[in-house]
Amino acid sequence: MTQTITVIRGDGIGPEIMDATLHVLDSMNLGLSYEFADAGLVALEKHGELLPAATMESIRRNRIALKSPLTTPVGEGFSSINVELRKRFDLYANVRPAISFPNTKSRFASGVDLITVRENTEGAYIGEGQSVSEDGETAVLTQKVTRRGSERIVRYAFDLARRTGRKKVTVVHKANILKSTSGLFLKTARLVAQEYPDIECNEMIVDNCCMQLVMKPEQFDVIVTTNLFGDIISDLCAGLVGGLGLAPGANIGTDAAIFEAVHGTAPDIAGQGKANPCALLLGAAQMLDHLGKVEEADRLRKAIVATLEAKDSLTPDLGGTGNTMSFAKAIAGRI
Ligand code: NAD
Repeated sequence: MTQTITVIRGDGIGPEIMDATLHVLDSMNLGLSYEFADAGLVALEKHGELLPAATMESIRRNRIALKSPLTTPVGEGFSSINVELRKRFDLYANVRPAISFPNTKSRFASGVDLITVRENTEGAYIGEGQSVSEDGETAVLTQKVTRRGSERIVRYAFDLARRTGRKKVTVVHKANILKSTSGLFLKTARLVAQEYPDIECNEMIVDNCCMQLVMKPEQFDVIVTTNLFGDIISDLCAGLVGGLGLAPGANIGTDAAIFEAVHGTAPDIAGQGKANPCALLLGAAQMLDHLGKVEEADRLRKAIVATLEAKDSLTPDLGGTGNTMSFAKAIAGRI
């Protein structure tokens, strides 16, 4: 059966890395069909709005979107289109794998294989209750953590661990200081963990977790945490294994899921064929996992690793002399 996915080519390097990614997916005969939709600057220019209703409808209908990075111009209604998409589709789980790859200029070219599961809708990023006093001396921010929000993200992390054969979930918190918000998250996580006796569960305070990640990242398998901590930890993890060019992310909700590269539109290299397509390709691999095409996702990741190992047509950020499409063709050739 053909699966239709919404494809958003995006801004800056977006179209280049999307064309490269679709070239690789097409070479795999996955039975996917693409419904192209606009968002970001390109949508503003074409349709007069950043997030056209037709794009929302396409994601709602197909429930799966593969998305390139988008530019949100200042003063156009949203602070970020990506945040807006998360809100409108209640994409509560931000899932960010960090895996060691060979021949990247990273601290850990081997030994790291972890997934950060970040709560995406609550915590410090709710955008409510922010104020600065009239004299500008005092700023206030409200954080909100709910039992329901904590339960569903922790359950997502444990289910992900079970589904993918992972062994351990680390609950990261700061309940010793943030007794209400982080306290509720931890208490809820402990209850959920009891339902998964087959998965080891440990707890770690966020500052210690950051140190441990830098010193002994191999001890982590799945990390689950609240919004702000997850934002920081997932970028830290991307840095451990070679940076933004290799960091994918998924935003998962009950009714829709959006898969993407973590990096932005890279205006400094747009249109030059220099962009590394791996982050979006790895996002596409997450999408295949989500669609139950686990073997195909594995083949795609292995082809990326083999191409990196062979240093075949790598883009300049990885020290190569290839370009976006030649790199993608080298990957497709190994599938
Ligand atoms: P950026 O990630 O676009 O770029 C940071 C640096 O990394 C640049 O030097 C860039 O050349 C390099 N880089 C990024 N991706 C690369 C790739 N695939 N291959 C090789 N090099 C790569 O971050 P920025 O410059 O802070 O942001 C630029 C724009 O992107 C902003 O408008 C921002 O709002 C937007 N943005 C969008 C998203 C998204 O849509 N998911 C995420 C972050 C930033």
